[in-house]
Amino acid sequence: MHQLLENDKQQISDILQSTVKIAEAYFQQQDVLPPGRFVNDIVLEDLPLQGESALQTIQYFKQHYAPYITNSAGPRYFGFVTGGSTPAAIAGDWLVSAFDQNACGSNDTIAPQVERQTIHYFKQLFGLDNAYFGSFVTGATVSNQVGLTLGRQWVGEQLGKDFSGEGVYGVAPVKVVSATPHSSVLKSMAVLGMGKNTLIKIDTLPDREAIDIHALETYLKSTNEPVIVVANAGTVNTVDFDDLEEIGKLKSKYTFWLHVDAAFGGFAALSEKYAHLMQGINHADSITIDAHKWLNVPYDAAMQFTRHKRLQLKVFQNSAAYLGDPEQSPDYFHYTPENSRRWRALPSWFTLKAYGKEGHREIVERNSATAYSLGQKIERSEDFKLLAPVRMNVVCFTLKETTTFDAIRSFLNAIRDDGRVFFTPTLYKGTPAIRAAISNWQTSETDIQLAFDVLKEVLHAKKKITVTT
Ligand SMILES: *Cc1c(COP(=O)(O)O)cnc(C)c1O
Repeated sequence: MHQLLENDKQQISDILQSTVKIAEAYFQQQDVLPPGRFVNDIVLEDLPLQGESALQTIQYFKQHYAPYITNSAGPRYFGFVTGGSTPAAIAGDWLVSAFDQNACGSNDTIAPQVERQTIHYFKQLFGLDNAYFGSFVTGATVSNQVGLTLGRQWVGEQLGKDFSGEGVYGVAPVKVVSATPHSSVLKSMAVLGMGKNTLIKIDTLPDREAIDIHALETYLKSTNEPVIVVANAGTVNTVDFDDLEEIGKLKSKYTFWLHVDAAFGGFAALSEKYAHLMQGINHADSITIDAHKWLNVPYDAAMQFTRHKRLQLKVFQNSAAYLGDPEQSPDYFHYTPENSRRWRALPSWFTLKAYGKEGHREIVERNSATAYSLGQKIERSEDFKLLAPVRMNVVCFTLKETTTFDAIRSFLNAIRDDGRVFFTPTLYKGTPAIRAAISNWQTSETDIQLAFDVLKEVLHAKKKITVTT
């Protein structure tokens, strides 16, 4: 063994302790570290010929890189839909690395069994019936991609084709139909060779992002091919939900695969107040839900559920001779895009076991209540305009005076540089807008008051500068 490795093996305790200290310091500063920042490109260094040991490397990292991280796991990062990591989730995540199990294995380690257990928890959390088979993927983008892949395989079967075996040659393109799909659905179509420009957009209800069921039915009536319908359960701009129950009912009249993108909206199921939004979810053939957003576990964790385990095997079966019998559960080799993958269910298992449904319901309800309260402040203010009612945890608003995309971007850059709160820009039905997505387990009403004060302060400071220059 190389001397440095030999030494580090002896020093494993010190190495882990130093890592803990850095993480602890991060937690202690989470109220003051900037939730957003602009980082310049770094100057790339040459690969070291001689290494330096883990402890030296930790020191180097601490000095050179750690000071420039973004506090996106903290309570006042409202960009995208992000979330942080609960203490239990972090404990689980660290052990994932220490144990380094391949969760794609079969019965030669407990890892895939714990994944099965975690999926079982999630099915109960989201009210999914027992027929669903679930597995972990890296994120909702890949989960959407797997859902579309299964949908396409199913469409093939309706036409007497096995796309996984024969390819999609010589057949008419498989149609994907949706009202307000997430950008990752289009990306998945591009990756799968389905062509993102071929998506068929169905009208939304007036002033909504939810699908107009009648428009969907009109389309389904007009086509005699089997199609894939992507329903959206929680749009990123306004957390609008398609009516899953009504879409589900259409399945008895028309031939389509129903994929539901519930990346973060799926968490509506945790709260009595919002659970009706997920009603009808059990009509879905495939479902996408992220864990690294609203569950508050570290990145690299989403679930993919399907009622068609057999189809999933058909597509993802790995025929290498050394792999076991694919009918035997839980050999995820044969069901997921990867052949090797980290034990990514473990942080979710930790947080669900540690806080239970109640603990996570409290996060969902508190985040949504604070979003509502920010929405009220915005609605009453002279400077900002609320663009849609606050339905759950996202506030979509804009500046009353100027609403060019450049103006929004420059305003948000000024907010980011102020360093107390972070938002991302968006386009809502053509209007340049600001989104505040509240999904962190630590965010409190105090953070929301501060966020609103910062919005006003920065806007007025900017106005002053514009007037004097
Ligand atoms: C975030 C999100 C995605 C993509 O998820 P990743 O985890 O970033 O891959 C897809 N759909 C919806 C509705 C989302 O909010």
